Amino acid sequence: MSADSLPHESSTVQVKQCSQCKEIKSLDLFYRRKDGKFGRNNKCKACDLRRLLEWRLAHPQAAKAIKDRYVSRNRDKVKASKKRYVELHPEARLASIEKYRETDRQKCREYRKTHKKEMRAMFLAWAAKNPHRMIALANKRRARMKGATIGDQSAVIEFYRTVRTSKRLKCHWCGKLVPKKERCVDHIVPLAKNGAHAVDNLCCACDTCNSEKHAQSAEYFIKRKGLQKHLVGL
Ligand SMILES: [Zn+2]
Ligand SMILES: [Zn+2]
Repeated sequence: MSADSLPHESSTVQVKQCSQCKEIKSLDLFYRRKDGKFGRNNKCKACDLRRLLEWRLAHPQAAKAIKDRYVSRNRDKVKASKKRYVELHPEARLASIEKYRETDRQKCREYRKTHKKEMRAMFLAWAAKNPHRMIALANKRRARMKGATIGDQSAVIEFYRTVRTSKRLKCHWCGKLVPKKERCVDHIVPLAKNGAHAVDNLCCACDTCNSEKHAQSAEYFIKRKGLQKHLVGL
C-alpha cells in the first residue's frame, strides 16, 4: 500500500496556537467553534477551563444558579454522567460516601438534640409496630441486671416474635394450647438459678404456669404440679 492511498486527513497533523498560553497544540485540544480558525476556539481547552474556574470562584452564586438550571433541564444526562464517573472512579465514590456518612451522623446528632418530641414520637411508633422487640429488649435488660448470660439476640427476638404470632402454641409446662393473649416467654432454667437468657433456655408458657412457676427449677415445678414435661414444637 503506497502513502498516496492514505486519507488526506490522517497524513497531516493539524495544529493551532492558543491565543492565551501561546502554546502550539493539536486541534483536539481546542473546543469546537464553527466560526473559529480550523473550526476551533482560539483558546485551548486548558485555558478555557482555567478561565471558567476563575469565573466560578469569583461568581459563586451565579455559577450555582447556572448549574442548578442545567441540572434541572438535563436530569437524565446528569444522571448518566454521574454513573459514568462512578464507574471510572470507584474510590472517589467510597470517599464521598464516607464524607456523607460523617456529615449525616453529625446532622442526626443535632437533629436528636433539637427534636426530642419528634424522636419520642418516632420511637413510640416503632415500639407499636415491633411489640415483640420491645418485650425482648425489656427482658434482656432484666436478665442483664440479674447477671445472666445473654445469648444471640437475633434468635431471642425471633423467638419472641414466634410466641406472639404463631397460630397454635402449647404451654411448655402444662401442654395446653395457649391463646395469643395469655402467652409468656419463660426461662426453663430460671435466671435466679443461673439460667441463660438465650433461645435454648426459653419456652412459651401460659399465664397460669408462668406465675405459678416463678423461680422454681423446672424439675421441682413439674414434680409439684404432677405435670409431664411437654416439648413445644416451635
Ligand atoms: Zn492555552
Ligand atoms: Zn401452662
